[in-house]
Amino acid sequence: MNFEDTPADAEWRVECAAWIEGQLDELDAGSPNPVERAQRWQAMKFDAGFARISWSPDEGGRNGTEIQQIIFDQEQAKHRLAPGVLQIGLGFIAPTIRAHGTDEQRAIYLRAAMRGEHIWCQMFSEPDAGSDVAGLATSAIRDGDEWILNGQKVWTSGAHLADYGEVLCRTNPDAPKHSGITAFILDLRTPGVTIRPLKQMSGTADFNEIFLEDVRVPHSNVIGAVNDGWHVAVTTLMNERKTIGSGTSEGPSTMPARLAELAKRRNTYGPAARQQITDVHIRGELLRFLGLRTMTAAMQGRRPGPEGSVAKLASSQLNVDTGNLGLALLGAAGMAVDHEDRRWVQRFLWGPGHRLGGGTDEVNRNIIAERVLGLPGEPRDDTVPWRDIQRSAR
Ligand SMILES: Cc1cc2nc3c(=O)[nH]c(=O)nc-3n(C[C@H](O)[C@H](O)[C@H](O)COP(=O)(O)OP(=O)(O)OC[C@H]3O[C@@H](n4cnc5c(N)ncnc54)[C@H](O)[C@@H]3O)c2cc1C
Repeated sequence: MNFEDTPADAEWRVECAAWIEGQLDELDAGSPNPVERAQRWQAMKFDAGFARISWSPDEGGRNGTEIQQIIFDQEQAKHRLAPGVLQIGLGFIAPTIRAHGTDEQRAIYLRAAMRGEHIWCQMFSEPDAGSDVAGLATSAIRDGDEWILNGQKVWTSGAHLADYGEVLCRTNPDAPKHSGITAFILDLRTPGVTIRPLKQMSGTADFNEIFLEDVRVPHSNVIGAVNDGWHVAVTTLMNERKTIGSGTSEGPSTMPARLAELAKRRNTYGPAARQQITDVHIRGELLRFLGLRTMTAAMQGRRPGPEGSVAKLASSQLNVDTGNLGLALLGAAGMAVDHEDRRWVQRFLWGPGHRLGGGTDEVNRNIIAERVLGLPGEPRDDTVPWRDIQRSAR
């Protein structure tokens, strides 16, 4: 891949930058609530064909290219316009419904997700099924034209703000664990759904536990085929890893300048700080190139490979190290949480979360070990009926 803009790309970049800058006044004139602001921005992008550039105009795009999308994202990243709570719907679940949903599901949910009208959450993890999500136990039993769901999900980001969830359930306990799962669209206002926010050490409550008690879901909400939910889930997880590791978020590109500004203002800008900030810059650039490599593979029609795991691992480590460095540069103020630079303290307290969400560091190392380095695989229970797997081993 050539990293210089072609003349056509350069022209497109100018067009994107001008369009984004032209919208900022109107965007800022509305409610400052971060969720409403993100929704407003998403609707503006959808209506102008910038929501997902390679998709059709009906889906918020303009039948453009992945390169055009990357350029748009790079220009957008200069303005702190991150999708926030919309990211799960836009980045992970809309592509899943587009790939596996029925025409009716696409008509009802795709446009609304891409316009930011519906907020989505991803209901995969359970207390006994995180890294091994295929071992999940939440059950769905068919009753005529409906399914009845029972069980518990946990770590569901944004569920307290969401309208819908993509929920994975066990529909055939006698099949091996990957073969007996079905994916459903769940309206979170359905009776029997209880959402409880979990308070984190950062002081915020960004994720939730969700209890499902005799929750009735219409059969028309099954995504893909019954018992083929793993296939559906893999699409969501691939898109999650691609989004997290894409290297186009605002963090890596703006972080060195923000760290340097902090160090100068706090008077902690010594040689060690300079070296560490340079390290953040270098690793941010490497991450950006890794993201471009993944995009190149996608554009050439290749399935995302283990480079997604490398990018996720690199990005979580960079996030942790950046939080640690920010705290060090804060000096004594790092001990307090209530001051003008508190977001650096928040970043530090969020560090461990990055190492877990979207696949833990250890699990990503396992993937790299097996698929890149060719090391022997872990012992697996993939051929045994799910019902016969020891609960503690699930
Ligand atoms: C910020 C954040 C957001 C999240 N958002 C969502 C969400 O929206 N929806 C959702 O469904 N889930 C979400 N999760 C849950 C996330 O997917 C799980 O935390 C993750 O998959 C790990 O599962 P677990 O917490 O059950 O840990 P476990 O799987 O129990 O792992 C515990 C420890 O054992 C290690 N380990 C596990 N298996 C292996 C192995 N085979 N080899 C080596 N080490 C291993 C892990 O690395 C970890 O250190 C989120 C988590 C975080 C932190």
